[in-house]
Amino acid sequence: MRINYKSTRGNNGSIASSAAIIRGIAEDGGLYVPDCIPRLGEHFDKMTDSNYSDTALYILRSCLTDFTEEELSDCVGKAYDSKFGDDEVTPLRGFGNLFFLELYHGPTLAFKDVALSILPHLLKLSLKKQEVTKEVVILAATSGDTGVSALEGFSGIEGVRTIVFYPERGISEIQRKQMVTHRGKNVHVAGIEGNFDDAQKGVKSIFNDEEYRELLDNNNYILSSANSINVGRLIPQIAYYVHAYHAMLKRKWVKPGEKVNIAVPTGNFGNILAAYYAKRMGLPVNKLICASNENNVLYDYMRTGIYNRYRYFRNTCSPSMDILVSSNLERLNYYLSGEDEETVRCLMKKLDAFGRYEITQSMKEGLKDFYGGFATDNEILEVIGKGYDELGYVMDTHTAAAYSVYRQYKADTDDGTKTIIAATASPYKFPGSVCRGLGLDTEGLDDFQLMEQLSLYTGMEIPQVVKGLKDREQVHRTVCDKAEMKNEVSRFLKV
Ligand SMILES: *Cc1c(COP(=O)(O)O)cnc(C)c1O
Repeated sequence: MRINYKSTRGNNGSIASSAAIIRGIAEDGGLYVPDCIPRLGEHFDKMTDSNYSDTALYILRSCLTDFTEEELSDCVGKAYDSKFGDDEVTPLRGFGNLFFLELYHGPTLAFKDVALSILPHLLKLSLKKQEVTKEVVILAATSGDTGVSALEGFSGIEGVRTIVFYPERGISEIQRKQMVTHRGKNVHVAGIEGNFDDAQKGVKSIFNDEEYRELLDNNNYILSSANSINVGRLIPQIAYYVHAYHAMLKRKWVKPGEKVNIAVPTGNFGNILAAYYAKRMGLPVNKLICASNENNVLYDYMRTGIYNRYRYFRNTCSPSMDILVSSNLERLNYYLSGEDEETVRCLMKKLDAFGRYEITQSMKEGLKDFYGGFATDNEILEVIGKGYDELGYVMDTHTAAAYSVYRQYKADTDDGTKTIIAATASPYKFPGSVCRGLGLDTEGLDDFQLMEQLSLYTGMEIPQVVKGLKDREQVHRTVCDKAEMKNEVSRFLKV
């Protein structure tokens, strides 16, 4: 079955997946969605012996149909190799009815590595397929983890330049260090005076600036995106949920067809959207548990059907979820409306003009697939301690947000369904908060001393990739005003 991609706002017809991967965002400002969601095949239940790469290939083949099996197999081979610190790529740790799906064994210790390891290879192939000879400029806004993951994935790929904007305040010291010391080829990193939403808005406005795109075009550049708005990032994320289910089947932790819940710590609604796609493809999923932090705009949306971004922005201990405008929610709205582009256009117009919209009654009914909750910083630290005391498991602040909301869900519903929690970052990425959660003394210690503390207390080894970070020299020093982002891009590209 051939699958094409069209905009959630419905204007420009449909295009092949390779074209959608190159463009990142549709010309009308909408996000690309498949024109049909493929179903997992009948033999899906029997694929329990497949390794990560097999499952990834299976998912990619069913969604990216303009690539050949050989091409995709080549991409998968390049992506899921020894740069993952665990042979299983995304190992699953079971505790009774609860399973942590560890998505953080890639080169930058966060889940974004899983998709950003393969996106550059998909993009390179896409350029060839679409006969694009221009140089690609990857423009990324980051809440901390996308940036370094993109730098890691794209640097060294021929014909690609990468520009990353991060909020100068509000990301962890480890995250900042990973970016400003990055020595990749053809990369540019700039901090901005503002938060993630400002960075994302700036990037989006560059994408939507037709005159500017034309200028870039005349200089032989084409813009693309490494954010989760890109289908080339979204689709590979579906694979780990399917793989996790296979792993459970294989160990007889579930019976064939038995439903599981999936709890995901959420910011831009990308990772949980991949779980939603997995469900729509036929993975036996009961509830999708959408966990927010104190920036709980999604919790309110799930509860009331009203999205309102006008609220106080908080810097929390789970900075990669400090987001008030969740881009990928546009895709969910598209499905909730019965794939009605007119409705999506109207909602997004309202969001733009008033910062607020309300979905219709019938759309609200579709939200029953989800359970929304949020965790305060105090709750996050508390469950990091509890998780360690009760399970002997150490989790980072983002994973803990999902664990906290899962506990609320259990208390709320008495549902005993087995639950997968997406563990999205290594505890070593946020050592200060994790140590505080574990009740350790953190007074006067920097992040590197805190990593030592954490290792000493838990007996978990410090991952190699962050060990040497302390002494790495800062090579990127630019910090610009959020209004200056376009100029910064021009400066780097010399246009
Ligand atoms: C990006 C990120 C999230 C949020 O993921 P979304 O796809 O934006 O919802 C959660 N945890 C960590 C560690 C992240 O880096």
